[in-house]
Amino acid sequence: MQENTPRYLTLDRHLRTVFGEKVQKIPLDAGSTCPNRDGTLSFGGCTFCNAEGSGPGTGLGSLRTQWDRWRARYAAMPRMKSTRLFLGYIQSFTNTYGPASRLASMLRELSALPGLVGACIGTRPDCLDEEKMALMADCPWPEFWLEIGVQSFNNATLARINRGHTAKDAENALILAARFRVKTCVHLTAARPGESGEDFLSSVRRLSALPVSGVKLHNLYVPKGCAMEKDRLQGSLPLLEQEQYAALAARALALVPPSVVIHRLCADPAPGELIAPAWAAQKRQTLDLLDAVLRYNNWTQGCLRQDR
Ligand code: SF4
Repeated sequence: MQENTPRYLTLDRHLRTVFGEKVQKIPLDAGSTCPNRDGTLSFGGCTFCNAEGSGPGTGLGSLRTQWDRWRARYAAMPRMKSTRLFLGYIQSFTNTYGPASRLASMLRELSALPGLVGACIGTRPDCLDEEKMALMADCPWPEFWLEIGVQSFNNATLARINRGHTAKDAENALILAARFRVKTCVHLTAARPGESGEDFLSSVRRLSALPVSGVKLHNLYVPKGCAMEKDRLQGSLPLLEQEQYAALAARALALVPPSVVIHRLCADPAPGELIAPAWAAQKRQTLDLLDAVLRYNNWTQGCLRQDR
């Protein structure tokens, strides 16, 4: 394999194949909440959730106002000003929570955004049903992704991090989405409290046997204001070193089917929110280390799968 041959299928490469040119994501905030934050399941939320609902919390104003602000910002950047196509990414909180009519109105608002060729909607597995899937399946864009926070397929881990749903809920959501031909991107995090690297790889294997089209792998980090912060300050929350994460993520990548689009390979803390580990702010360095592990072992996406 040549030195510069891609070893995995990035979202950027996938989008260039679909559209023939660069597509830029624009983060949007739909003002959603979450059953794990509003008292329906809990008030505390997942132990890693930041004040913005595990997203950047980018925006005040309507989706159109936020969209226009981002478009103007990109138009002023020399390397971005020729970009014509955009994906709207609604990340923070649980965007399919509440009645289907709320989701329908969000999708209508997205449809009116100029230059939008697709969308990614973030949610949790227990806030989906047939009516909502049908709405998403009807979206007119060439690219639509339902991003589902699964975190782990280990029920003990899910209980420990106060997710308020089970691994079965996640499996059911993924199977339901596949039935409606809605593409899903699953979020998994390495080395959650109490989990070994092997536990994380077991979740990756389980994910790889399900009808999933995309994946985001995250390293665990502690953002300001989350429930884990206290454990970290008391010294009872071990975190991976950067090299350990790179080695683990490379192995995980080698277990993911080659057709699955890799949306992200490490977490991306918002400016000012990172408590630990410090290396989580060095995303480029983490990706370079991961690439080095892949090259050293001559691994490519899916190369360690048993069923190849
Ligand atoms: S499901 Fe998402 S938004 Fe809700 S508490 Fe957990 S991380 Fe936060």
